[in-house]
Amino acid sequence: MNCNDYSIIEQIAAKYNATIKHNEEMKQHTTFRIGGPCDVMIDINCEALLCELISECRKTGIRYFVIGKGSNLLVSDKGLRGVVLHLGSDFSSIRVDDDIIECDAGASLSGVCQAALENSLQGLEFAYGIPGSVGGAVYMNAGAYGGEMKDVVLSCRYIDGDEIKEMPVCRMGLGYRESIFADKNYCITSVRIKLKKGDKAEIKNQMDTLMQKRKDKQPLEYPSAGSTFKRPEGDYAGRLIEVCGLKGTACGGAEVSTKHAGFVINKNNATCSDVLGVIEKVKQTVKKETGVELHCEVLLME
Ligand SMILES: Cc1cc2nc3c(=O)[nH]c(=O)nc-3n(C[C@H](O)[C@H](O)[C@H](O)COP(=O)(O)OP(=O)(O)OC[C@H]3O[C@@H](n4cnc5c(N)ncnc54)[C@H](O)[C@@H]3O)c2cc1C
Repeated sequence: MNCNDYSIIEQIAAKYNATIKHNEEMKQHTTFRIGGPCDVMIDINCEALLCELISECRKTGIRYFVIGKGSNLLVSDKGLRGVVLHLGSDFSSIRVDDDIIECDAGASLSGVCQAALENSLQGLEFAYGIPGSVGGAVYMNAGAYGGEMKDVVLSCRYIDGDEIKEMPVCRMGLGYRESIFADKNYCITSVRIKLKKGDKAEIKNQMDTLMQKRKDKQPLEYPSAGSTFKRPEGDYAGRLIEVCGLKGTACGGAEVSTKHAGFVINKNNATCSDVLGVIEKVKQTVKKETGVELHCEVLLME
């Protein structure tokens, strides 16, 4: 599709003074540092703009992609044909009211954790160090160290077609790295999180401890999208990959981390095809050697 075909989208974005980018390299917006150019990217700056753009895209059949911090994405080397709706720093306000934090979907999870700490609110310590946006975290039901978003989310606002609605957590279908938002193609615009009053020093101590664990165990010195595979029932993908002798398995610039077998890393200018090559090799070998079928946690966007 030629850029001119996006003129209606660009007019809407201009009306809201939103930043419009053409042929933006998606590798600049993914923690994997992988992904070719997208046709158009709009930096979302308010809920009304997001709603109008999604409604227009649906009406006209223009493909659109919602992204947050791109920390769970593997984007095609060919890039994305369509409009990328980027929920980032232009859409990231965080408001604290007693024990409730309400934030725009583009707010960083670490920023929300920081706000919780500053207000002596406990419950989000598990999320400190997960490098995504709040919208992405709810969509994925992100979790770590025994906690998950499901435990702390109260409700969210979201776009269904051209309407903005509100949903309580019990209707979100939050399970292990799954939610209703994926199935229904709903876009989350803001999230309400309920925490408990706690002791600031204890909260900080827990956050620091968990961050140190990440630094010790995870290959944070290389670009990645975190755990490549979902945890198979009763086991860990990393353990299975390690016992199959797959640490260090490489394809082009992508490699199974030698520090943590659950991570495929971008070791040296890897392409999306390189990563897919490593994923395929790992899946096949683990299936052959252990009988376990691994499923990707990382989402392919193409
Ligand atoms: C080093 C590292 C460590 C990680 N550790 C963890 C961990 O401990 N636990 C964990 O669960 N994950 C972890 N992750 C993965 C990732 O950080 C999470 O999945 C995160 O929640 C993704 O958020 P995001 O904003 O980056 O989403 P993106 O990667 O931008 O998008 C992910 C999906 O969410 C959708 N999406 C994003 N925002 C919205 C929205 N507002 N409305 C609707 N859909 C939306 C996108 O369309 C896409 O399908 C890690 C990643 C890295 C790189």
